[in-house]
Amino acid sequence: MANNSIPYGRQHITDEDIQAVIETLRSDYLTQGPKIKEFEESFATYIGAKYAVAVANGTAALHLCAMALNVEPGDKVITTPITFAASANCIRYCGGEVVFGDINPETYLLDINSVRDLLESSPKGTYKGIVPVDFAGRSIDLEVFKALAEEYNLWIVEDACHAPGGYFVDTQGNEQRCGNGNFADLAIFSFHPVKHIASGEGGMITTNDEKLYYKLLQLRTHGIIKQDNLYTNTIEFAGGDEAYPSWYMEMQTLGYNYRLTDFQAALGISQLKRADQGIKRRRELAKRYENAFTGKDYIKRQSGVVEGHAYHLYILEVRDRLGLYNYLRSKNIFAQIHYIPCHLMPYYRQFGCKEGDRPHSEEYYRGCISLPMYPTLSEEEQEYVISTIHQYFHG
Ligand SMILES: *Cc1c(COP(=O)(O)O)cnc(C)c1O
Repeated sequence: MANNSIPYGRQHITDEDIQAVIETLRSDYLTQGPKIKEFEESFATYIGAKYAVAVANGTAALHLCAMALNVEPGDKVITTPITFAASANCIRYCGGEVVFGDINPETYLLDINSVRDLLESSPKGTYKGIVPVDFAGRSIDLEVFKALAEEYNLWIVEDACHAPGGYFVDTQGNEQRCGNGNFADLAIFSFHPVKHIASGEGGMITTNDEKLYYKLLQLRTHGIIKQDNLYTNTIEFAGGDEAYPSWYMEMQTLGYNYRLTDFQAALGISQLKRADQGIKRRRELAKRYENAFTGKDYIKRQSGVVEGHAYHLYILEVRDRLGLYNYLRSKNIFAQIHYIPCHLMPYYRQFGCKEGDRPHSEEYYRGCISLPMYPTLSEEEQEYVISTIHQYFHG
């Protein structure tokens, strides 16, 4: 068994998935066809949001969100340091300024108190938005973030890349699914192979806001619209007589080509059908990890069993993390570190961030390690991971 390498995450492609892609490859549309709408509709239903917009990848999704919300040079936006860099970079694409909050050391999520501190220490209107992240698959409590956002007139973009199918329970006792748009203006997902649903590259934006929805559709395709009642050039200019000719379209704002292809969407649709099954399995694995590591002297903290957690990652905070990481590699177990704090990436240091600025994030980074977590990880393999970790610390 030690001969098969065990990664921290991996995709699961079935014959049915392959069949779905082949059918689309043989169809009339490789891109801009019917699979996109079908994927968007089934994804929106799964998440519980009104609208979904499929895009090329999660980073493109974030970029379009920042554009749709009119992020401009000088605008300040808050996010967490413990995330993939794209959560912050999307603000920089639009010239905005990223300000990092700190994490809550218990949940690993953006600490609302650190956000409040930032907001209170600047004149109102300084900050424009927040990008909270459902890090590792644990849903952030957007109900409290929404209340704070309303107080300061901020928008919220939920980075839910780790958490399709995750939820938190609101004060009314209702399950609020990540990305359902009840508390955030926009939410984004990624379909990179390490995430829950794989389409190769791929992403999705969900929202309940009709205006933002139409704006996103336009930005996804170069800023072009094809809708008679919205044109600003005259019919005469367009070359029509009574009406706009059917070839006519207008580029009204500067957009991009951030489209997903139809064969990727076909894979996404097929994968989505197994999403609940995948989460169920991830939760079983999490429970076994928690049982195995609870009370161990080498564990400082772990992800643990948390209601609504979607378990993109299962994280341990350990002593001697480097030693464990290398030992696991020598045993063909490829654990990973999520994440190197964003505010200390050389790119972000140039804006004035330095060590000690976000102590909880930095302390977390010193001990964190993400264990293998994916639906096809067998119990035997998981036992091997657990016993190898135990062996490292206790011989
Ligand atoms: C994967 C990921 C992204 C970016 O998604 P891509 O599809 O790789 O561009 C953004 N944010 C988080 C938290 C992610 O995990």
